[in-house]
Amino acid sequence: MAALTTVVPMARRTFGHGSEVSLFTLGLMRALASPLQLQQVIARALELGINHFETAPAYGPSQAYLGQAMAALAVPRHRYVITSKLLPGVDVDQGLAVVRTTLEHLGLHQLDHLAVHGINRAEHLHWALHGPGAEVLAICEGEGLVRQVGFSSHGSPELVAQAISSGRFGFCSLHLHMLNPTLMPLAHQALAAGMGVMAISPADKGGQLFDPPELLQQQCVPFAPLELAYRWLLGHGISTLTIGAAQPSELIWAQELSQTGEGMNPHVVAVVEGLYQAQQQSLGDTFCGQCRHCLPCPEAIDIPALLRLRNLRLGHGMVAFCEERYGLIGEAGHWFPMVRGDACTSCGDCLPRCPQNLEIPTLLQHTHGLLQGRPRRRLWG
Ligand code: SF4
Ligand code: SF4
Repeated sequence: MAALTTVVPMARRTFGHGSEVSLFTLGLMRALASPLQLQQVIARALELGINHFETAPAYGPSQAYLGQAMAALAVPRHRYVITSKLLPGVDVDQGLAVVRTTLEHLGLHQLDHLAVHGINRAEHLHWALHGPGAEVLAICEGEGLVRQVGFSSHGSPELVAQAISSGRFGFCSLHLHMLNPTLMPLAHQALAAGMGVMAISPADKGGQLFDPPELLQQQCVPFAPLELAYRWLLGHGISTLTIGAAQPSELIWAQELSQTGEGMNPHVVAVVEGLYQAQQQSLGDTFCGQCRHCLPCPEAIDIPALLRLRNLRLGHGMVAFCEERYGLIGEAGHWFPMVRGDACTSCGDCLPRCPQNLEIPTLLQHTHGLLQGRPRRRLWG
């Protein structure tokens, strides 16, 4: 095997109190058809200067393939940083067993980062801060099995805020996107507190931007939609962005943007602002401003989350993405909202709380009619 060369020295950013990580992180949940497929993607990532790899026990054979790839490519340990995950809810022995099995699969003595995988509900945060998870994390750090602990979350902004302000975590992985900016203030809060912040899958979960609809492409000119999304996040100072590449060719934007510096490009700001204006014009007086004042709903409907999909569907023509996301509701446990729009009983509780005086029950029924399709499943779990 020829020695790896770095053709583009990708810029790196601080990540909590761990090693610096590249602007892009290779997420290892897709290139898993064979060990060779993952090895080829990893080899290309290393050539581009990507040094951060994200895996999880829940991603099938990802960890074993990653360990095999690093050994086959003879990559020196100091050239890569690995984040793995631990699902909350297990007892102390189970948690430690998961971490030790992870290290065994990777062929390592120490994991750079361990993230609590999905602090999506209050009980998950309690598990990590005060329950068995707290003990697992403390033992892992105390015994040197893990250098830094963090969390990922698909939960509410309120829950993410609690996790960040707990001071327990060195980094977080969040859904951050120009098409879903709700959590950006929390991301800035985390960065200001010295935490590393990773954006979860801007290409796929952010909007299927690898295959954008015509309308969105027009609205993002002169940028490609995915390029704009990446530039916007990097301009906001987000530490690193995940790419779940299945083929080496899917790392092209990582190569193109490998030298992106600090600070926001005013051109990017102007185009994204134009996107928001186009969305509001399309929605007119049915545009949901995502303020979340309408919550809580007695039927546990995440009103802003559903109306955000309606915003994207009508504002940018994002049919496939919004139908896929709506199809996941109720099918993906705590990873996604549990209740669809047709569960609204028109009780009216939310109406006086909406500063835009939206006819929320009507809009939820419209959203359901617009987006209901066949149920979907998450890729892993
Ligand atoms: S009107 Fe519908 S969405 Fe609003 S609080 Fe009642 S059930 Fe929930
Ligand atoms: S209060 Fe109104 S504008 Fe705000 S998130 Fe709820 S529905 Fe949208």
